[in-house]
Amino acid sequence: MNYKNFPMVPRVIFGRGCFNQLGEILSPKRLNVKAPFIFLVDDVFKGKSWLSSRIPLSYDDKIMYVSAKEEPKTSQVDELVEHIILTTSDRPSGIIGIGGGTILDLAKAISIMLTNEGETSDYQGWDLVKNKAIYHVGIPTISGTGAEVSRTTVLTGPILKLGINSDFTPFDQVVLDPELTRDVPKTQWFYTGMDCYIHCIESLNGTYLNTFSQTYGEKAFDLCKEIFVDNKLSLKDTQDKLMMASWHGGMSIAYSQVGVAHAMSYGLSFLLGTKHGIGNCIVFNQLEEFYPEGVKLFIQMKESHNIELPEGICADLSDNEFDIMINVALSMEPLWENAIGKDWRKTITKEKLKSLYQKM
Ligand code: NAD
Ligand code: ZN
Repeated sequence: MNYKNFPMVPRVIFGRGCFNQLGEILSPKRLNVKAPFIFLVDDVFKGKSWLSSRIPLSYDDKIMYVSAKEEPKTSQVDELVEHIILTTSDRPSGIIGIGGGTILDLAKAISIMLTNEGETSDYQGWDLVKNKAIYHVGIPTISGTGAEVSRTTVLTGPILKLGINSDFTPFDQVVLDPELTRDVPKTQWFYTGMDCYIHCIESLNGTYLNTFSQTYGEKAFDLCKEIFVDNKLSLKDTQDKLMMASWHGGMSIAYSQVGVAHAMSYGLSFLLGTKHGIGNCIVFNQLEEFYPEGVKLFIQMKESHNIELPEGICADLSDNEFDIMINVALSMEPLWENAIGKDWRKTITKEKLKSLYQKM
């Protein structure tokens, strides 16, 4: 048995209002006055002074607002890196991502591509990154993906939607301030929160399960139940607990894998651009045969929060389009092996996946 030696986020600060300490966290990391910090910020915060005015800028530091309307692409990372190189005199002291999974993943990828040659798509895969990334900080403003703890940055490239999985990907510092999640719209809160719930179900019901993953996964699962099923928490507790559920859910899959919902949702995302949170919900809603208990509880949560999922998103697809989605889903071999076992190819056929997609 060859065990994976897993890198973790070495520094984390947690607490309501801890965002105010960002300046004191960053200042010792400044390389010189010409090496700026670049703040990559979700553009929903443009003009929201409660957040933007608290970003600690000095010398040549810059804020770059980026839209999270679409999930990150390798070409987008290449453009942002090029822009940073052209507009800064020295290599930056650090990249600070402030936003959801989309912005956190962009921040990770940019910090890697500032020290590695070539195009971002060259590094999609496992352990292809050669040089250490520049200092990078993740500050989530919505909870659920676990992108703040993970060893990957998920990117859509020319050929595949695939992460840059490397020991250099995890953040050097994470700032967990649950107050930053205050304006998340209800439906988005549910979709991204369900990403965490689905991470738990897929990890806890996978063949890769081990005690490391199980202990984190069970904690995250219990927190999700408190938040989405029991509905007895104050708003503050809901925010605090979902932020920690996301962290634990991310830790759980770090040492195992996700499963059927993620494999199929990658297909939807690649072909239709369906975003991760909502895509996972649309898929998971149809996965009762794989995760009977998990899906039952999901439907209960969906109803109690009055969430209506889009229907018929695959209704007008051609055979060729189904094939594209199915091929993306089937290429996620470790996910299927985790979900079903070594013999997964016997039951997970193209026809099987087509019949599932047709229900969505
Ligand atoms: P997101 O970053 O796509 O944001 C969703 C929406 O919420 C956006 O419209 C955004 O502007 C808005 N938003 C975020 N914070 C807000 C706030 N405080 N107030 C108001 N609106 C706010 O959402 P997400 O679900 O966190 O991230 C999805 C992305 O994460 C996908 O690209 C997915 O591939 C990636 N992901 C990565 C990992 C990983 O390990 N790297 C894991 C899971 C998902
Ligand atoms: Zn996910």
